[in-house]
Amino acid sequence: MKVTFLGTGTSQGIPVIGSTHPVCLSTDPKDKRLRVSVLIEWDRYTYVIDCGPDFRQQMLNAQCTRLDGVIFTHEHADHTAGLDDIRPFYFKQGDIPIYAHSRVLKALKDRFDYIFETENKYAGAPGVTPIKIENKPFEVGNLTVVPISGMHYKLQVFGFRFLQFAYLTDMKTIREEEIDKLKGVKVLVVNALRETEHISHFNLEEALELIDKVKPERAYLTHISHMLGFHDEVEKKLPKNVFLAYDNLQIKI
Ligand SMILES: [Zn+2]
Ligand SMILES: [Zn+2]
Repeated sequence: MKVTFLGTGTSQGIPVIGSTHPVCLSTDPKDKRLRVSVLIEWDRYTYVIDCGPDFRQQMLNAQCTRLDGVIFTHEHADHTAGLDDIRPFYFKQGDIPIYAHSRVLKALKDRFDYIFETENKYAGAPGVTPIKIENKPFEVGNLTVVPISGMHYKLQVFGFRFLQFAYLTDMKTIREEEIDKLKGVKVLVVNALRETEHISHFNLEEALELIDKVKPERAYLTHISHMLGFHDEVEKKLPKNVFLAYDNLQIKI
């Protein structure tokens, strides 16, 4: 299985528009972060987790030519705003399966009503096959994916386990029985916004605590704010099996 980090930034991305913060002005490519998403490829399958406002650029960067589906963590715009840009895949392949909690599907239907239209649909609009997911394993391609439910302050969000790989983002709290579902993963991706506390995201300390409980071989941090600091400086402070993810990083599991 190959995972490509398409974006590793928090909701505003890095640089933030108009910001003169030193991290936003950094010339290190690792300090440039599009909105969070990963591309997961195995056998002949290609899926993305989330489809934010940078989706088009991310598909071009990854030279992605086929998409078997989009799996959504939650409905926030930084994870969903690029849905219209699945059009090139739809034109080639037909309706694109989208997997999400029923609440998230409803939010997408409200925002992208024309995509879900069944009568007199605009010919240029993309089409999707909505697939409702609950907090129980579901099939994606030839794999069983295990959802990991957590809380993003008051909003429920899903993380996902694909065999030895698990991806969590926008989590602030996670129950012990959900953490148990992560046991035995080789690679764990967790959101870590910044060092200071935040109401709806793990800060660095909380992310490291979770990693310490799960004990994966390797962990990568994502959904990063410019306030966390320069990539190279932050990475030096991390435990030896924990890394900051960066855009276009590819890992094999
Ligand atoms: Zn987010
Ligand atoms: Zn969010």
